[in-house]
Formats: sequence, C-alpha cells, structure tokens
Amino acid sequence: MAPIRLLSERVINQIAAGEVIERPASVVKELVENSLDAGAESVTVEVDRGGTRLIRVSDNGAGMSRDSALLCFERHATSKIVTEHDLFSVSSLGFRGEALAAIAAVARVEIETAEHDAPIGTRVALSAGAVDAVEDSARPPGTTIAVRHLFFNVPVRRGFLRSVESETRAVMDVVFRIAIARPAVQFRLVVEGREVWNMPPVGDMKGRLHQLIGAQRTDELIPVRALAPGVAVEGFVGVQAAARYSRRQQVVAINGRPADAPIIRAALVELLQGGGGGRAEAYLSLRIDPSAVDVNVHPAKREVRFREPGRIRAALAAAIKDAAVRAGTLAQEYPVSTDGMTLQRSPQPRSAEFLSLVAEESVAWEHLARSEAPTAGSTRDTPPRGIPLIQIARTFVVARVGDTLTVFDQHACHERIMYEETLKRLAGTRGMAQQLLFPITVDLTPQELSLAQEYEEELRLVGFEIRQFGRATVIVEAVPADFQGEVNEELVRQVLAGIGEEKGAMGGRHHRVASSIACHASVRAGDALRDEQMRDLIDRLLATEAPHTCPHGRPTFIQITAQELERRFQRV
Ligand code: ADP
Ligand code: MG
Repeated sequence: MAPIRLLSERVINQIAAGEVIERPASVVKELVENSLDAGAESVTVEVDRGGTRLIRVSDNGAGMSRDSALLCFERHATSKIVTEHDLFSVSSLGFRGEALAAIAAVARVEIETAEHDAPIGTRVALSAGAVDAVEDSARPPGTTIAVRHLFFNVPVRRGFLRSVESETRAVMDVVFRIAIARPAVQFRLVVEGREVWNMPPVGDMKGRLHQLIGAQRTDELIPVRALAPGVAVEGFVGVQAAARYSRRQQVVAINGRPADAPIIRAALVELLQGGGGGRAEAYLSLRIDPSAVDVNVHPAKREVRFREPGRIRAALAAAIKDAAVRAGTLAQEYPVSTDGMTLQRSPQPRSAEFLSLVAEESVAWEHLARSEAPTAGSTRDTPPRGIPLIQIARTFVVARVGDTLTVFDQHACHERIMYEETLKRLAGTRGMAQQLLFPITVDLTPQELSLAQEYEEELRLVGFEIRQFGRATVIVEAVPADFQGEVNEELVRQVLAGIGEEKGAMGGRHHRVASSIACHASVRAGDALRDEQMRDLIDRLLATEAPHTCPHGRPTFIQITAQELERRFQRV
C-alpha cells in the first residue's frame, strides 16, 4: 500500500470545488450572493457558452482592499464569520469562506476590485488556484469577477455538463430566484452579449414578478401574507387548476436569500393539494428571527431546517388558507385548527376514497394484468361492442374483460397512446397539424423561449407551428392534430415546461418531448367521455407497445379477477 500523505492545498480545494461547484450556475449563485453580501445595489451577470467559456459578475458593492483581494481566494477566508456563534446563526447561512477558493481551483479567474474611498483598485489573475498577476486597476468602486474556462483542469466535471442551452437556463434560474428574493437590487443578465433581463430596483416582490414573468401572469397569482411570532410570510401562489400537470416555479426566500427548506416544500404539497400540490406556482419570502432557525450548511444545497417547524408551518398554513379563501377555491377543504399550529384535513372526497380502495388491491391486480398481458396490436381482450363501459368519477373507465373487472385510468391510458404516437412522429414523418383559426400569442419567459428554440425541430415534427414574434413572444399557428382539450397559452407553456423538466433528462430529447405532450394534451381526470370515446381509448391503448403503464410508469389499468371478488365477498 502507498504511504499515507497529507493532501496538498490545491487538491483539497479541488475536492471542495466538487462539493460547491457542480455547474456554471453554481458559480453564478456564489458570485452573486457575494455581491449582495457586499451591499451591491446593482449586479450584472454575463455568460458565454452556458458559462463554460465565461462567467462575469460585476457589482457596485463595497469592493476589497488589495490584501483582501489576494486573501479571498484562500480556503476559509471569509469576512462574514468572526466567532463560533456566527456559524450557527442564519445571517451567516452558508458562509464558510470556501466558494472563491473552490472556483479558483477549477478555472482561470480574474478579479478587479476597488473600495469606495481607495485611490486605486486591484487586479488579480489566478489559474487553477495559483496567482499569476497582481496589478493596479482603475475600476470604479465595486468588484468584477470573471471566471473563464470552468473545469478546464477537471475533465470529469466537464463531461457531466449538459447542453449550452440547458446550462444557460440553469443560470437564468439562479438569477430568477435571487432576483425574486431581492427586489430592491437591480439585476442584469447578459447571455452571449445579448441582454436577457434588465430589472431596475422595485419596491416589492410584485414589481419584481412583473419584470420576470409579466404583469398578466403575476396578476393571476394570489397574494399571501401572514404574521406569526418570529415569522412573517409574504408572497404569491397560483392555485389555479391549470397548474396541476406541470411542476411550476417555486421560489422560497428566507431572509432575502433563496433557500431550500424541506418543510416548506412539504407544507406546500399538503396545503395546495387541491390546486396542484407540490406542482403549484409559489413565490414566498419568509422573514424569520435568526435565533429560530437552525441552518444545515450543506455546501451546495443550503438546506434549511427550523428549530420550531410548527410555527413556520402554521404561518404558511394561515397565509395559504387565506389566499385560497380569497381565490374562492379550496375554501373549506383546509381548515386550520384554532390554535393555528396544526392543520386538520377534511374527509377525503369520494373519488379519493375509491382510489384508496383500489390502491389496496392494486399489487395483486397489477400482477395479474402483467401475467395476462395482451400482445401488442392484438384486440383479443378488447371489450366487444356489446359490453357496457362505465365512466366513474370522470376519471376511470370500468369494463368487464373476460372474467375480470377491469378499471382503466383514462388519463394514463391516453398518455400512453399519445406518447407512442408522438415518438413515431419524431422518428419519421411529420405529424398532422391542426391550424388554429385564431393563432395564439404567448408571452414567454427567457427560460421558456430558450426551450422553444432548442426544441424547434422536434416541435415542428410533431405538428406545432410556432413563429417568434418580438423578443419574448411567439405566435402558435398550429398544434398537433390530436390535441385534446382547450388549446391556449397555458397549454403551450406547460408543454415547454414539461420538456424542460430535469427528470426527463434520462430518456433523451424525444422522450422529453413525447412525455410532455402526452401529459398535457391527453384527456384528463374530470373530462366526461362518451361511449364511443371510451371504446376508442381502450382499443388504441391495447394497440400500443407497452399498454400496461403510462410514460411515467403508473399503471394504465388494473384488474380484479372473479377469484379476487370471491375472496372479498368471503365466499372462499
Ligand atoms: P464567504 O462568502 O463564505 O465569506 P467566499 O469564498 O464566497 O466566502 O468569499 C470570501 C470573501 O471574499 C468574502 O467573505 C468577502 O469578504 C470577499 N468577497 C467576495 N466577493 C466579494 C465581492 N463581490 N465584493 C466584496 N467582497 C467580496
Ligand atoms: Mg460567498
């Protein structure tokens, strides 16, 4: 065995970099947060090639002295924690003096900085953590840090990077979140020399949302506000049913800093269930007494845990309940108990009761469904014309198939059909388009526009006709012929959002497009189906290659055999 040795400082920094710096967006996050910590009122972010060629963050904050400019790249160099006590207070969330050292270890970095009353500024250049040059700079007060050729010395990391568009969107997402957390600061984002955002300072989150997602979309959100001892919650949520099928933006800022707090996510899932649960759109800003928060300073994730989670939850519950009542939805479904600390749920609606009844048995049925799988293309098990089909709760279709009671999930079935049909189109001839009598104009965020551009060819193949009109607007002139339901702006955004969802990354571009279209353009739970529509659905399902599951892996139907019925009626 090789003798044990201490790792060099440079290797330690590279290891640390792996924890803190996963992709260009993580560099942007660290640099922008530093700018805000330095009191900047204006921050500009520039990226080229998704941030792999260049990331430059400039601010008008306090700047650094020459000594500090040299010291800040050392590991554990920080001006923000002085005592051990500071380590555990939320105002020093994530300050460990590691970010700049980690970034410098895996890139070529140049810093130009000047303090407000200093006669001259400083420029320092480093490569892989080693200082190459120190000189005077005539920069006006503030700091500019340029990071070039990220991961040039760590090929493994480079290999994990995704497309330029995808890395750029991740950068946009970071700027988006921080901008929401800090409306009073001006942010500019420049991608490949083109200004994507220029957000002058505004008075509140609403003003910032206007800048980021447009006035119309902001005005559809419901303001929430609540006060509890030691906690103030403020922000906006979307409880419209339209949000139910895609994961929407959720931004949670704690004391002016975007953070990931599992309890808040969980509370949103529960509280907004009727309006889309964890998928609902939510922009929340929490002000919390620092002594009430425990911070788990995970270097990359910045997960926050609270000392008194019940209090935060109650404040959130009160805020969201109030918002829901004002929106006229979910009003009675989520009563908050009188002490404001626990949340009681009303009895489940009928359909959910039925669902749980079904779920109890689903393991056994799934097994049966699999063992008696109809072969692709066969219609052997299709209910013959004479057999009645019944729709239950506008969600399930029930039929006798052989000696079984078979229950189909209409949305899952249609998803499977749409998924396979869309894949075929992507692989071959262009799909049928339905020209819209009234083309729809859709205002897109830069992230959405970037998706529409990146997937232009695939969208065209499946039957979309999308034309860019102005900087952030597209006109949709045609959609795939078999789209179900109302074709509107929201649908177009949802298809784009679905394509962009990370979890689709595994199956490649075609899978992403097909599963998003399948999800958003299929019949839904709640849609009434006529008899021939139900028959058509089941015929087409059984003709697919994998009729047993939807593209996300949920079962499309379950079967209860006669033996199972006998057992449940205690006949055997
Ligand atoms: P941390 O933010 O945890 O202190 P960093 O490695 O991110 O650690 O930064 C190290 C130090 O460099 C900071 O504590 C701060 O003093 C200084 N610094 C970094 N960026 C800036 C900036 N944009 N303006 C002024 N000072 C900065
Ligand atoms: Mg920092």
